[in-house]
Amino acid sequence: MSASQTQPSIEVRDPLESIGAALFQPLGVDGVYARTALYEDVVEHLSALISRQRDPRAEVLRFPPVMSRRELEKSGYLKSFPNLLGCVCALHGTEGEIRTAADAYESGGDWTQSLTASDLVLSPAACYPLYPLVGRRGPVPRGGLTFDVAADCFRKEPSRELSRLQSFRMREFVRVGPPAEIAAFREHWMGRAERLAEQLALPCKLDVASDPFFGRVGQVMAVSQRQQSLKFELLIPYFPGAEPTACMSFNYHRDHFGLAWGLADGAGEVVHTACVAFGMDRLAVALFCVHGLDLSRWPGSARRALAL
Ligand code: 5GP
Ligand code: ZN
Repeated sequence: MSASQTQPSIEVRDPLESIGAALFQPLGVDGVYARTALYEDVVEHLSALISRQRDPRAEVLRFPPVMSRRELEKSGYLKSFPNLLGCVCALHGTEGEIRTAADAYESGGDWTQSLTASDLVLSPAACYPLYPLVGRRGPVPRGGLTFDVAADCFRKEPSRELSRLQSFRMREFVRVGPPAEIAAFREHWMGRAERLAEQLALPCKLDVASDPFFGRVGQVMAVSQRQQSLKFELLIPYFPGAEPTACMSFNYHRDHFGLAWGLADGAGEVVHTACVAFGMDRLAVALFCVHGLDLSRWPGSARRALAL
């Protein structure tokens, strides 16, 4: 090869590599990380900022990272995203059976062959446990209900990208009530989210979106969701020219959860639901990627909004 054909040896580095190293420590599995104090401090300030935005009538509920398997099945999750679901499995049976299975590990065997499913799945979004909970309370009052929920969520999507974690935190404002009010709630929050991003000095754009529904049937579901504008996302590029990352979503479920969980008003009319999801980890990573690792040098409006 002549000198003119030699490729210059440019080291291509992920621009986010050094940021990731300051925010996360590896735990042996892609997309699952220990979080540093620097990172957690920003997540806490971001949480407080979101709490200040909350409707004063909202009821606050915090969910564990696991939920009822039966409830998630009944919500239709297996139709939409079976590939992302994590199910809690355990060794069931007699003491002898459990001992034999566990000992398989020591003798180089595969102890996981003996696992069977428990009653629990890992929550894939913070709002799923809410709808059955509301259903158990009886008729939805006039004017509907508003909630502030949060959970650690799991989706089986191993990746080395900072924006795609397998275990991440989701905060949601959820509205349950008559269709017109639900649509207005979502509309209102799309505007508020843009203003919030502006305060945080994060470049963003709102766009209609679709979920990554599973398989060929899923592609049809995604087209229909997009055509009906049931999902919007707040997209933030992590660095200039980057493919933007969905950091918030605005989802109108229509009567999906109302029908699944018998959510109805006093007259028996099925209610609608919508949720506004804040991807806490994606928003926090966006702040560091856009503004850098030195919080004292972040733009004044972001520092004020976050009360840093
Ligand atoms: P959605 O239910 O719309 O897919 O997710 C709601 C929000 O959770 C997204 O807008 C995003 O901010 C966050 N989220 C979804 N998937 C991931 C992920 O793989 N990693 C992280 N860090 N956040 C995610
Ligand atoms: Zn939701």
